[in-house]
Amino acid sequence: MAITYDVAVVPLIDPALLAVLAVVVLAAATLAVVLFVRARRVRELQTRRRPSLPAPAPAPDAGVEAPTLPTAEPAAPAAPAPAPAPTTERPEAAGTRMARLRRRLAGSANPFAKALAGLLSSDRLDADTWDDFEATLIGADLGVGPTTELVTTLRRELAIDGVADAGKAREVLRTELVRLADPTLDRALNATGADGLPAVVLVVGVNGTGKTTTVGKLARLLVAEGKTVLLGAADTFRAAAADQLTTWGDRVGVRTVRGPEGGDPASVAFDAVTQGVAEGVDVVLVDTAGRLHNKANLMDELGKIRRVIEKKAPVTECLLLLDATTGQNGLVQARVFDEVTDLTGIVLSKLDGSAKGGIVVQVQRELGVPVKFVGLGEGVDDLAPFTAEGFVAGLLGE
Ligand code: GDP
Repeated sequence: MAITYDVAVVPLIDPALLAVLAVVVLAAATLAVVLFVRARRVRELQTRRRPSLPAPAPAPDAGVEAPTLPTAEPAAPAAPAPAPAPTTERPEAAGTRMARLRRRLAGSANPFAKALAGLLSSDRLDADTWDDFEATLIGADLGVGPTTELVTTLRRELAIDGVADAGKAREVLRTELVRLADPTLDRALNATGADGLPAVVLVVGVNGTGKTTTVGKLARLLVAEGKTVLLGAADTFRAAAADQLTTWGDRVGVRTVRGPEGGDPASVAFDAVTQGVAEGVDVVLVDTAGRLHNKANLMDELGKIRRVIEKKAPVTECLLLLDATTGQNGLVQARVFDEVTDLTGIVLSKLDGSAKGGIVVQVQRELGVPVKFVGLGEGVDDLAPFTAEGFVAGLLGE
């Protein structure tokens, strides 16, 4: 039996209803598109307003190994941001400067090492050889007296064993030079004040010997030893001196007391020490103007500076700057300065440029005042405490 469908039973959709449905579907689609576009725009705007952040770390991926720095430890939590770099420098401690003293002396063509080499290379120790040796030592500012002593001892010792034993000759020369440089002298800087007062270090000398530079270097050395320091710029004659000193101080966090240009140096020194007492610092370093030792009024002024300072605190050190390259003239200066203001120590500057270290022996003998420091160059830490043994080792090029 054939199956027949009666088309009349299939309900026909009313075209009007169909049109309404189409309109509804179209409206819904339009609304969806509008909402989608708005949502995207809002997201874009939010992203633009947010401050830019570093890209997030990529998520660990099973297949790709993230690059890591070599480390023995498991990854530590992120380190805190590094502290800002300190504005002050860390000066070099005294210990390592000794080696530099030896290197600098040994590095220059120094006459002592040359004299010794000349002596050792001679086949015969005749009168001419000894004359040459003597002349070299005097040329190196050792002075006639110490040179004669040294040569007499060497001649006596070498007459016994002969110069064939180079090691022995060197040993005799070393022993004699150390004796002349006098290892028994107390060379410590008196940087400890009494009765709760600061130590006061007064630095004097003729112009250009290196006073201001040395005050700056000394400040660094004291800071390296953990001392608190205040600088007094009592060189009011030279326009740039106070600026120069302030710069040295600033580099190691040390303050400088200064006065008006051309002002009274004694008044600046007084102010510096007064402030040092009030602040309870360990050491006040006072720079003074360079003065010619043969100008009586300037030398008197130095006496006045000292007297004025001592109304507040005793001067624990009075250091004379001597330029090692000036030779005998330095000795004359030293004598006059010592008369005006009791010297307690010598700083021998520019030993790097001269290698005429013999002046150490002469000045100590003349004044009975020890060489406490030597200047070895223009670098900020080119100031070394003096030791007789280190000095002689440097002279002999060891
Ligand atoms: P002041 O007039 O005595 O205060 O002398 P300064 O401190 O202004 O120094 C004079 C010059 O000597 C400067 O150019 C310093 O850099 C230089 N000077 C100081 N000490 C030394 C040293 O030990 N070696 C060398 N080569 N130069 C130095």
